[in-house]
Amino acid sequence: MGLLAGKVALITGATRGIGRAIALKYAAEGANIAFTYLSSAEAAEQLIQEIETLGVKAAGYRSDAASYEQAHTLATEVHKTFGRIDILVHNAGITRDTLLMRMSEEMWDTVIDTNLKSAFNITHAVAPIMARQRGGSIVYMSSVVGIGGNAGQANYAASKAGLIALSKSVAKEFGARGVRANCIAPGFIQTDMTAVLSDEIRASFVENISLRRAGTPEDVAGVALFLGSELSAYVTGQTIPCCGGMKG
Ligand code: NAP
Repeated sequence: MGLLAGKVALITGATRGIGRAIALKYAAEGANIAFTYLSSAEAAEQLIQEIETLGVKAAGYRSDAASYEQAHTLATEVHKTFGRIDILVHNAGITRDTLLMRMSEEMWDTVIDTNLKSAFNITHAVAPIMARQRGGSIVYMSSVVGIGGNAGQANYAASKAGLIALSKSVAKEFGARGVRANCIAPGFIQTDMTAVLSDEIRASFVENISLRRAGTPEDVAGVALFLGSELSAYVTGQTIPCCGGMKG
């Protein structure tokens, strides 16, 4: 029996990278998977098939995480289709990097809406379902830059810091109903998001990592499995770095 046998997980942004690895890891541990994406319809179809070969149920939804209405429609549909929601992984996120004085209002707003307001949207929609069930685990995908800040990523770092405070607040508000809320703070992970970085920047990151390698989406999925499962039954309001010992 898997660690998540019979559970229902909703994962935002699972067509690529970290979200995809979490969806497959959860499915391999017996969870039924609902996931979202924004534009990768073909990748979504492929993921559904891969998940189903693991012997669990899967459904993909095109749902813009930045939209309050779409988040609520999504939660209603997932609840109707799967009957419950045990785990929410809010993973969808984007970057629009540049130095603060070059950052447009649009770059700021887009990142805050997609990475942080989205977390309010989906928590507002899903937490009441978990509270009625008297149990659930919410995992937010923050970042090490949400803890330490980063030049050229003021919008992104602020959005990821916001997730940490949000998770602590949700942990306090919903703890009495058995709902837990935690963050993962990944460091430098090899995905499409970091593929745009130059070899030079990549090498400088790796030099600052104790384990001397970039992380993989599967590295992060392992932490997400811990936080989503009963292995972390007494853990809430915490942020777990998954960064290979990256120096701040
Ligand atoms: P990625 O490869 O760029 O994948 C992003 C995923 O989010 C895709 O599935 C994408 O869907 C989805 N998405 C983007 N905007 C969305 C929206 N508005 N609504 C719904 N889905 C949306 O990213 P990643 O590297 O796996 O990162 C995943 C999370 O980890 C992000 O929150 C990121 O900030 C965080 N993180 C990553 C790193 C890293 O080094 N990679 C480090 C720290 C934290 P489509 O395919 O349809 O576009």
